[in-house]
Amino acid sequence: ILLMAMESLLGPAACKKDEKALQFIQDMTTNVDSVQEKVLAEILTQNANTEYLKRYKLGGATDRDTFKSKIPVITYEDLQPDIQRIANGDRSPILSAHPITEFLTSSGTSAGERKLMPTIQEELDRRQLLYSLLMPVMNLYVADLDKGKGLYFLFVKAETKTPGGLLARPVLTSYYNSEQFKTRPYDPYMVYTSPNEAILCSDSFQSMYSQMLCGLYYQKEVLRVGAVFASGLLRAIRFLQLNWQQLAQDIATGTLNQRITDPSIRECMSSICFKPNPYLAEFITNECSGGNWEGIISRIWPNTKYLDVIVTGAMAQYIPTLNYYSGDLPLTCTMYASSECYFGLNLKPMCEPSEVSYTIMPNMGYFEFLLHESSASSLTSDASPPRLLELVDLELGKEYELVISTYAGLCRYRVGDILRVKGFHNSAPQFHFVRRKNVLLSIDSDKTDEAELQKAIDNALELLREFNTSVVEYTSYADTKTIPGHYVIYWELLVKDPNDAPTHEVLNQCCLTMEEAFNTVYRQCRVADNSIGPLEIRIVKSGTFEELMDYAISRGASINQYKVPRCVSFTPIMELLDSRVLSVHFSKACPHWTPERRN
Ligand code: AMP
Repeated sequence: ILLMAMESLLGPAACKKDEKALQFIQDMTTNVDSVQEKVLAEILTQNANTEYLKRYKLGGATDRDTFKSKIPVITYEDLQPDIQRIANGDRSPILSAHPITEFLTSSGTSAGERKLMPTIQEELDRRQLLYSLLMPVMNLYVADLDKGKGLYFLFVKAETKTPGGLLARPVLTSYYNSEQFKTRPYDPYMVYTSPNEAILCSDSFQSMYSQMLCGLYYQKEVLRVGAVFASGLLRAIRFLQLNWQQLAQDIATGTLNQRITDPSIRECMSSICFKPNPYLAEFITNECSGGNWEGIISRIWPNTKYLDVIVTGAMAQYIPTLNYYSGDLPLTCTMYASSECYFGLNLKPMCEPSEVSYTIMPNMGYFEFLLHESSASSLTSDASPPRLLELVDLELGKEYELVISTYAGLCRYRVGDILRVKGFHNSAPQFHFVRRKNVLLSIDSDKTDEAELQKAIDNALELLREFNTSVVEYTSYADTKTIPGHYVIYWELLVKDPNDAPTHEVLNQCCLTMEEAFNTVYRQCRVADNSIGPLEIRIVKSGTFEELMDYAISRGASINQYKVPRCVSFTPIMELLDSRVLSVHFSKACPHWTPERRN
């Protein structure tokens, strides 16, 4: 009994302040079911008079049974008409009794545009609460994090207004602009090298430049290096590769590059007492000039104890590259969150990336789970509605789709994430993030599904028509070996008249046409963030896709059921495809992108 009791506790807090946070985690994970019951009752009481709950005749009930029997499980598309009314300026309580303060624009898209998630003021405190749990947990595993700084590359993205005048922006842009973040009290465990002014600058070059400059300037004090996602940290390394000379010069002379024109950055950099440091400039020059980038992070920031970046889910593809640049520093994934709701945290942040599991905090929202059946059994499922499970009903090893109800008014909303139960902390399940549904290609925060890829190909095919050429088969690949990564599309063409085959220019144009067809998140990454490189088409020899099928069959696939995979990553298949390449083509321009929404 004593052993079990010990295991259920996380460990002795590193400092007095952490005790409260660890006790909170302990309470939440011990009382999962009662907290969930209370959260649902609070949400339903608060929103009892909303149009949405009245529509389903909830009649003020706050218990789970009535809620489950009356409220349908929905997706974003079901909610779109209500969201549109709010976006157009209807201030009546449609989804939430509290005023919708802004929309959070998710990286998941609907009809090519970011989904709009309504949010309310009090959600900022709920997010802040989850953030406040991260360091107390980290301090259990890594000592002395109060003895230096964190170099975090954090960015805001473009904001727009809806027709009704509400702000629409990504959740992190909202958070970095909040008082909770900007006027956070001093905490020795959360001292960042990046000044707020640099984080809040919407010009991505100026923001990155000044954050990198500060990171280099405080080089000896940096104890951890991070970004939200792995792709963001690699973008920073790429930036260093391209700009180290100018950065070293600024450090040598104690001046600030003239390209930094943002007055608030210039002002805050001068207040940092940014003195000339020729020794540091020489050190940076020595490390960067040889063209050897292996282990660059631990060479430039030698006191770094770990990299703080999410490498679970789609970001796992970056682990080898991060290991290369960091000299195998530990990678930590601390939290799991979304625009809809912040979910939870990793209670063992120093574990291997493949072992990461997230514990959903039951106070953040009301969580239900749909058993994720294999495709075979879902084909035969009858029409009876699936029964949703509670956090405490879940079984070890099984996969579930996450369904949430939030204080801001989402009810039984399917997030689209598939999670597997890896273990329990007290009575709280711990989840391995398996994948997001329907994502074929992803480099940064973009998520391109099969239908979007097909539509892009169809648009490009229009250009081939006048050359009497069609695409016999295609597949795709997210190439993350380059920084930034880029989409690669393999095409096998059927050219009717070899004397009138599509030219190199036309095939380059096909690349751009495809990019124009992709969703706004893809185009924003490509244009504003430079986090995705130009799309590439690789033309393969005729017969290549038949060989691909032969290969799959030789490995046990059924001939009748064989389907061309629309995305590939398995090395032997990549080798086969690449050995049959006849020509390669790239987008020669950026697709169009503006922050304004099309619908
Ligand atoms: P967004 O809607 O743009 O805020 O993106 C939220 C989505 O990002 C989640 O629903 C997940 O699919 C993904 N995500 C967030 N945190 C993690 C994580 N720690 N590991 C893997 N995927 C994550």
